[in-house]
Amino acid sequence: MYFSYDEPLFRPPAEAYSAIIQATLGCSWNRCAFCEMYSSKKFKVRNIDELRPEIETLSRIYSDAKKVFLSDGNAFVLSANKLIPILEEVNKNFGRIQRVSSYAMPRDILSKSDDELKSLKELGLKLLYVGIETGDDELLKLIDKGETSSSTVEGILKAHNAGIETSIMIINGLGGKKYSGQHAVNSAKIINQINPKFLSTLTLSMPYGENHFRSRFQGEYIPLTMVELFEELRTFIGLTDLNNVIYRSNHVSNNLILSGTLSKDKETILEQLDRAIETTPRGVYPTSPGVL
Ligand code: SF4
Repeated sequence: MYFSYDEPLFRPPAEAYSAIIQATLGCSWNRCAFCEMYSSKKFKVRNIDELRPEIETLSRIYSDAKKVFLSDGNAFVLSANKLIPILEEVNKNFGRIQRVSSYAMPRDILSKSDDELKSLKELGLKLLYVGIETGDDELLKLIDKGETSSSTVEGILKAHNAGIETSIMIINGLGGKKYSGQHAVNSAKIINQINPKFLSTLTLSMPYGENHFRSRFQGEYIPLTMVELFEELRTFIGLTDLNNVIYRSNHVSNNLILSGTLSKDKETILEQLDRAIETTPRGVYPTSPGVL
């Protein structure tokens, strides 16, 4: 059986064994200063008639799949009217599905009613990946995220109220030295308000180089050394006050692998960060892994 995707295609690490359905192509926003994931793609909504045979084929290729991930960038931008037939088709074809998930922006959640979100949850859409990147309003503007801390909290809590869980991404080093303190403090503040099911921290990477990032970032960017990245992360984790949040820092962009449940494992994670701060030479900059 032959199947090909419209590349490039991205999915969260936790969706490595999921069947991936390209419900949309590209990202409807495509403006975040640090992101080049879909800069080569024009955003497109795919029609259910086009998707039906693909879902059927994928269900035969991934006949044991327990999870389905709807891509690309923010497939949750689709209206409930468009998502419902896709989920119905997934349920009809995949016998063992336990969870459907997708990337979402807070505005994609806010554009749906409570009843629509509950219907989507009942059809299996149980998890949304939201790259909030920072809880700091100034930095959100400088990276052109198109969201504020309050729209982010409102959107995510709306999903939680409908029974949809979230996996939240924060970017370590996002604003460089100048904004590092406010980024750490306000990101902890927003995470404490949200208390998501999953939390991960990635590290800012620049696949097209620092100059390209500078041309898109609307503030003054002064890169952080490796120790300063760990210190920023330490401030962030140190200020979190969470209940049973599964935390991972295991993306290819990360220089230190961390994992645990917050706040239960907070002290252990802080000790690991303290050791890294003590043992890493000052003045050393991380080499960008060139990931998108
Ligand atoms: S970070 Fe997400 S919302 Fe921003 S441009 Fe990239 S894919 Fe789109």
